[in-house]
Amino acid sequence: MDENSTICAVSTPQGAGGISVIRISGENAIDIAAKIFIPFGGKRVEDMQGHTCAYGAVISNGERIDDAVLTVFRAPKSYTGENTAELSCHGGIYLTRRVLRACIENGARPAEAGEFTKRAFLNGKMSLTQAESVMELISASGENALRSANCVREGKLFGQIKAACDTLVGLLADLAAWNDYPDEDIPSVETENMKKSLGSIKKQLDDILKNYDRGRIFRSGVDTAIIGKPNVGKSTLMNMLLGYKRSIVTDTAGTTRDVIEESCELGGVLLRLSDTAGIRTSDNEIESIGVELAQDKLESCELAIAVFDSSQPLDGGDRDILKSLEGKNAVVVLNKTDLPQTVTEADFPQFERIARISAKQGKGLAELENAIIGALGLQTYEPQSAMFANERQKDCALGAVKYISAASEALESGETLDAVTVMLDMAADRLLELTGEKATEAVVEQVFSRFCVGK
Ligand code: GDP
Repeated sequence: MDENSTICAVSTPQGAGGISVIRISGENAIDIAAKIFIPFGGKRVEDMQGHTCAYGAVISNGERIDDAVLTVFRAPKSYTGENTAELSCHGGIYLTRRVLRACIENGARPAEAGEFTKRAFLNGKMSLTQAESVMELISASGENALRSANCVREGKLFGQIKAACDTLVGLLADLAAWNDYPDEDIPSVETENMKKSLGSIKKQLDDILKNYDRGRIFRSGVDTAIIGKPNVGKSTLMNMLLGYKRSIVTDTAGTTRDVIEESCELGGVLLRLSDTAGIRTSDNEIESIGVELAQDKLESCELAIAVFDSSQPLDGGDRDILKSLEGKNAVVVLNKTDLPQTVTEADFPQFERIARISAKQGKGLAELENAIIGALGLQTYEPQSAMFANERQKDCALGAVKYISAASEALESGETLDAVTVMLDMAADRLLELTGEKATEAVVEQVFSRFCVGK
């Protein structure tokens, strides 16, 4: 593919809608726009300044196919850093395709997945981590995911990694200077300083890495199983969480026969909920399939919400449930607190996170939210702090930490400067790969292939 050609794509989702945006980027973008768009009032597209728009007619093969708004950006002041024209036309599926075809007939070529953002990266408009955050932004499923994506996009992560990298490069320069005088030992005070610097870079990276797993919860959500005996109020709780009726609520035990999956946002976290058939042995064939599914679900979930009827004494079935929770990250829910109570928190000494609710009356949501946030270890989570957005970034940081540790050990055990230099060189390489300053073409390709066309 010609990297320099002018590209075009529909940047809004496929489907009929109010508006569709067709984006053209590259040297000839504005000339191509001039061939298919005539502003009303006698203005010329070629004369339009950057960051201005015009209302006019879209022309294809001499035919006026739509009225639209054209926005012009002139290089380098655009998303991609190139000349860019954006046509906001009416959002018909066929109409949008016609406009796109007109762009192609006039010299643009269809953009590849992520090519606009890739050009932005290649033209120095953003770092690789910022480009990746664009994708996080688009796929953010909740408030915290959005905040953390924006934090990366604003360059916080890049700034911190860059600072760590600069320190490493400074140390490498010192090492190179000493290497030029092989007969002289490094003064011990310098070794101490170097160890201190390495220690603080390592701590900084470790802190960002720690945030990663918590951030992942915000980005991808948490597989959550609602479990409990039949009739304790699981479906009612699910409906309370979802805010609408999804699974059938009845008074007959064992009516929720299969696993029902839905998502809801609680405390900024996306919970992927499955309301399972009550876990208990059953002779009824259909119900036992449900029970099996429930057990599978419990094994694979990241969080279990175990519901108990607090108006009934705990029985063998409840104890089976408690047993199945061993080793699981679980929240205990005492439901039906609107009825006279027979069960209290004291009956669950081994559980730290207990919420008292009345699912039927929709009460106790805040308490449940606290318990869930606590169980997921998110009380102290700071979505504004720097965080890695994906496995690629995390792997680069882990690699850097590994080499920094090796360099510290080499310093400690008095190994040659060469050994320390090699380790620090590798650590710096990993950090430069993280920010994209030294990423191979293959890495860049891989990052942008995850985007969709039009981004
Ligand atoms: P599941 O089998 O665990 O899914 O339980 P359901 O959600 O189907 O609820 C069983 C019965 O308990 C229904 O009659 C609900 O209306 C009732 N129920 C659920 N939650 C509460 C509650 O908080 N208080 C009271 N009094 N009844 C409830």
